[in-house]
Amino acid sequence: MSWPPAPTLLAPLAPWFEAARRDLPWRAGDLDGPHPDPYAVLVSELMLQQTQVATVIPYFTRWMERFPTAASLEEADEDAVHKAWEGLGYYRRARFLKAAAGRIAAEGWPGNLEGLAGLPGLGPYTAAAVGSIAFQWPVPALDGNAFRVLARLLLIEGDPKTRAGDLRAWLAPALAAHGPSRLTQALMELGATVCAPAPACGSCPLAEACGARLAGRTAEIPHVAKRPAPKASALWLVAMEAEGHMLLHAPAASGLLAGLWRWPTLDAEATPAGSAASAASALIAWPGWTQVYTHRREAVSPLYLRLEARFEAAEGLRWVPVGDLSRLPLGKRDQRLRDLLAIPGQAPLEAPDPTLLIENLSKA
Ligand code: SF4
Repeated sequence: MSWPPAPTLLAPLAPWFEAARRDLPWRAGDLDGPHPDPYAVLVSELMLQQTQVATVIPYFTRWMERFPTAASLEEADEDAVHKAWEGLGYYRRARFLKAAAGRIAAEGWPGNLEGLAGLPGLGPYTAAAVGSIAFQWPVPALDGNAFRVLARLLLIEGDPKTRAGDLRAWLAPALAAHGPSRLTQALMELGATVCAPAPACGSCPLAEACGARLAGRTAEIPHVAKRPAPKASALWLVAMEAEGHMLLHAPAASGLLAGLWRWPTLDAEATPAGSAASAASALIAWPGWTQVYTHRREAVSPLYLRLEARFEAAEGLRWVPVGDLSRLPLGKRDQRLRDLLAIPGQAPLEAPDPTLLIENLSKA
């Protein structure tokens, strides 16, 4: 590793950050001492995993009003925690945050990086981010933005993540020299606002020393691996109402969708649409949409079916009073159907036979 010393190379970042930093609700004003509220740093870092700053801000503000301390989050009802996270996605972060808060409320904050990394939901990156920003430990936190900046600055070929160990060792003295919280946030901020995928090198404090800029290779560094095409599927998303109740899947205890209530779905290929003429006015539809996830795309066709009487639902399904619907945490796709229920739909031209829907959702 023949990179120039980090304290010198990254020195322009500190004054740049003082002048250019965004005013974010979790940021401390004074970056020379420990953060006054490490719990706020923890909440922000968990929320910022996989989610943009602009999306996180209103969630963070509401969350801190609702659960202002680790102890208050630990005591909160699980449905209320998921409800506060509703719409942010990757819901296991909410469960991790609650579990980490429980540990902190009971045992206090860990005193070192290993202890932080042992809290639920904190991988090496988040532990280092909390350690440097909340406690001023000189532990480098490399997120996607930091990797991009450093790959360009140091002209790293290939995937910079494979050099994570080297980069951390190189970066640590710069954190000690310029302040761990300040430099960590400055690096992330530069990646988010200036050294973006399409970089604005003209506004960059590191431009004079940047290897990729000097070599005219900012468009090809860092190397980005192509993702496999997402799998496609199609489904009916069904809101079924009877006797003042709606039929929903109760939350799973674990897995990606743990903690979330879900509308029943039926695979559209296995449950083909026929003429909906026989369904009468009790069956309503709205225009469908494509729900995009990291690895798959769903063509969603939303339906509402009103029945005269409830039936004995299949395992895992529950009839929930209509009045409870607004307080239950739902994922993004299912929220969308809940919102649609408030606006008029229309009789569908095509839909699965309602008898088939009921058969699929009844106890065998
Ligand atoms: S000069 Fe351009 S490519 Fe280099 S770090 Fe700055 S913004 Fe990124």
